[in-house]
Amino acid sequence: MYDVIVIGGGPGGYAAAIRASQLKGKVAIVEAKAMGGTCVLRGCIPSKVWMHAGALLETARKAGDFGLKLTVGELDFDAVVARKKGVSNDIAMGMAALLQNNGVEVVNGRGRLVAPGKVDVDGNVLEAKSVIVATGSQLKKCEVPGADAIVMTTDQLLEMDAAPASVLITDPSYIGVEMAMLLSVFGSKVTMALPGPRILPDEDQDTSQRLAQSLRERGVKIMARYALVKVDGKKCILKGSSKEAEVEVERVIVSARMPVAKDLGLEALGVKFKEDGGIDVDARCMTACPGVYAIGDCTGGWMLSHVASAMGICAAENCMGKKSTFNAGIVSRALWGMPEMGSIGLSEEQAERGGHEVEIGGFPYSINGLAMLRGEVDGAVKVVADADTGEILGVHIVGAQASELIGEAALAMQLECTVEEFAKGFRVHPSFSETVVDGFRDADGWALYLPKRG
Ligand SMILES: Cc1cc2nc3c(=O)[nH]c(=O)nc-3n(C[C@H](O)[C@H](O)[C@H](O)COP(=O)(O)OP(=O)(O)OC[C@H]3O[C@@H](n4cnc5c(N)ncnc54)[C@H](O)[C@@H]3O)c2cc1C
Repeated sequence: MYDVIVIGGGPGGYAAAIRASQLKGKVAIVEAKAMGGTCVLRGCIPSKVWMHAGALLETARKAGDFGLKLTVGELDFDAVVARKKGVSNDIAMGMAALLQNNGVEVVNGRGRLVAPGKVDVDGNVLEAKSVIVATGSQLKKCEVPGADAIVMTTDQLLEMDAAPASVLITDPSYIGVEMAMLLSVFGSKVTMALPGPRILPDEDQDTSQRLAQSLRERGVKIMARYALVKVDGKKCILKGSSKEAEVEVERVIVSARMPVAKDLGLEALGVKFKEDGGIDVDARCMTACPGVYAIGDCTGGWMLSHVASAMGICAAENCMGKKSTFNAGIVSRALWGMPEMGSIGLSEEQAERGGHEVEIGGFPYSINGLAMLRGEVDGAVKVVADADTGEILGVHIVGAQASELIGEAALAMQLECTVEEFAKGFRVHPSFSETVVDGFRDADGWALYLPKRG
């Protein structure tokens, strides 16, 4: 009998297994394919290798601004794929070694709950006091008639040996936007057909607008409120609210994802599901069935690697008798585009809808010393705060290093620091982190380096 059985060896399951083992649990982790999950093998790590290749290419093209007389050759796609495979393999091997080091038993096979605490792995039933479901997510199939012939999934894109000449992207989320930026840097003609009015519909409107502007400047065509309804050869028929449109592309990119929550035996245990198909859990990451927990992408919502790991730690601690909760209010998000995006908490619109009297602070990269000297002036920091209490409700950054800078806001929100306290801080000069402090000073009403407010 195990203390904990974890189903799924992605970043969520891996963190859960190690944490339960650290707390002296006897732990098994069941993995149907390969250790590492989407993040290591088909997601974060591979895509960021490509994004870095794209960013380097752009930097090399701008090297002349700094007096470097470089001749930028062609991108060797095979070399990027080889690098991606090398990094993914190294991380997956490191994970396997660390599981072994922690005494976690790795069981290869497909897990399915047959009763609370009983997991069938390809006909062999294992028993545990608690089970953590960490089965992740999978690509959503494109059901549009005729699309199959020209679909390119993100799994395929991350293995590409050349950039498609032209693509249609219908996913408005961060994966769709990253792929649009990447392919535009590689010279593809990119069209985005969005189901709603804007890209990144769950992010702050200013963030969405800034990134849309940057995409347009790269030649990406954004068509809001259009749905792909039919593909005929290379011809894509798009239906808008009042009219139809046609675009001809080589490939339709499929990047939207859905939770893997079905066929796991959960329905029979009384587990509930959310509207997005994710497994419904409480703040302790427990499902409606006592002793059965669920974490990461299989619970829907923000499907992000660090969320999966944080939920994994929370569930493992609860399995081992601690009282742990997962704070969904401080989930940070990022996009490794050109420019980057980092965000946390509520957008201005969400804060207003939540009944807050909102105070906004902002600071543009265009007057930050480091941004100016590096020629990376595209971006801004936006702080959303409660005007009465000074509580930080959200921070939204577009610009260089935004994925790192958002960590400042994450720490501040985790420690419940107020706008006034953050504004009193100071950072090394010249640095991008100064823009964050300046944004908070603006929210506190005393931005030093901005014109006086009316
Ligand atoms: C192109 C792309 C880019 C991304 N970029 C980022 C990024 O930059 N940052 C970020 O935070 N997130 C990113 N993500 C999302 C991130 O990969 C996921 O949020 C993360 O992997 C979720 O972790 P998980 O442990 O919940 O699930 P997964 O990583 O999906 O792992 C689930 C594991 O469970 C296994 N499994 C499933 N069913 C069973 C079963 N019945 N029995 C046994 N094993 C099973 C699967 O084989 C898999 O290994 C990206 C995703 C994609 C596709």
